[in-house]
Amino acid sequence: MADAPFSILDELGFRFEPDNLYQQVVTQTLTAAEKLETPRHLQLIMAQPKNEIMVHFPVKMEDGHYRLFKGYRVQHNNLLGPYKGGVRFHPDVSLDHVKALSLLMTMKSALVGLPFGGGKGGVQIDPRAVSLEELRRVTRRFTVALGDNIGPDHDIPAPDVGTNPAVMGWMADTYLNTAGRTQRINGESVVTGKPLAFGGSPGREKATGQGLVFVLDELLPELDLDPATLSFSLIGYGNVGSWAGRLLGHRGATLKAVMDHTGAIYADGGIDVERLAKHVAEHGGVAGFNHGCETIDEATFYGVEVDLFIPAALEQMIGPEQAGLLNCKVLAEAANAPTTPEGERVLTEKGVRVLPAILCSSGGVTVSYFEWRQNRDAVTWTVDRVDRELCELMHAAARRTREMAHRLKCDLRTAAFAAALESLSEVYAIRGIFP
Ligand code: NAD
Repeated sequence: MADAPFSILDELGFRFEPDNLYQQVVTQTLTAAEKLETPRHLQLIMAQPKNEIMVHFPVKMEDGHYRLFKGYRVQHNNLLGPYKGGVRFHPDVSLDHVKALSLLMTMKSALVGLPFGGGKGGVQIDPRAVSLEELRRVTRRFTVALGDNIGPDHDIPAPDVGTNPAVMGWMADTYLNTAGRTQRINGESVVTGKPLAFGGSPGREKATGQGLVFVLDELLPELDLDPATLSFSLIGYGNVGSWAGRLLGHRGATLKAVMDHTGAIYADGGIDVERLAKHVAEHGGVAGFNHGCETIDEATFYGVEVDLFIPAALEQMIGPEQAGLLNCKVLAEAANAPTTPEGERVLTEKGVRVLPAILCSSGGVTVSYFEWRQNRDAVTWTVDRVDRELCELMHAAARRTREMAHRLKCDLRTAAFAAALESLSEVYAIRGIFP
């Protein structure tokens, strides 16, 4: 039997901070490792990333002054393939945050069975507060600062909060302009989530929302919910939230309430998912959307009675207070780590089933893998093929999670981590630890 998780944290010199996202994610990983009786040395390896890269770079702003930016790239694990994970542009990006997200990427890739490891990056910047030209310069300088720490066979960034296909296009272009001649072969596959005309994949933009819908198709029937008739609410109407909302809406589900950084709206008869997407694209958020909706406050938003609640914004938004207000049967985590351990405890007591993020939000990295393959083969798949292959992998990952939950008699979060750890353990056992 493996040792208690906290002895690993002690050994690594962590001062226990229950609110620290990285420690929360490590604890979830170690809880699953314990259940699976994973060897202690693998628990140690998983508890810290391989590389933590921190860069500072100056950028000339429109008014002529220079601003110094801080950026990160954390490479958690590359046992199964190149490091892979998004780049976030947000003022609150911190090293511990990026470390947590990089560990989750290792778990997602392993759970789905992708030939990738886990990484994550970010720059401390509010992308809404700078001009397009400033954003482009920041992206280019960040890419150059990372240098050969990224590459198509080494570490492959993708979009995350605050970044989009345009940012990925600038990253790929910067890499192609600065890399040596041999590194430029398939050089555009250094990042995924690119614009369609520059090596992007059909279906990548909707991929995380689409992946969530496929997971729901597999898991909801046994929870007595039908994706075609259920009611739901969403936090976040950005890339992931808006696609989840639109795809579920097209199936016939009723979107009752949405909250984002600009406010919260509610319509008992259902919100028009397409009109809302258009409004958010034009106005930057859900505030001001009428069309039969009323504005509600945050507490009312959380209390709206729905079958399914989908957090698709930032981490740690569902703490005990929010969990106490929630009035849903199932919570599906489309964002990374949206539920705190205390929040989850309250949800479990209330009988709310939690579908974990490393399963529900793995559609994005899966279609990123398809994009990477298309770039290397110099082909473009049809969106039907992308959807078909995504559907197969999401259903398989959901079934694997459910089977592990039965086998270990544990919740779905622990099961998803355990399934990922099982794949990693098997390969570590074959390869051994160098030297
Ligand atoms: P995005 O930038 O497109 O959207 C973020 C959303 O969060 C916006 O609607 C914003 O209004 C909302 N938000 C921000 N602060 C908020 C606050 N304080 N209260 C309420 N809402 C707030 O980002 P995204 O790409 O949709 O990512 C959302 C989540 O999904 C993140 O956790 C991200 O890591 C995760 N994720 C994204 C992808 C992807 O492919 N983009 C893949 C996997 C996981």
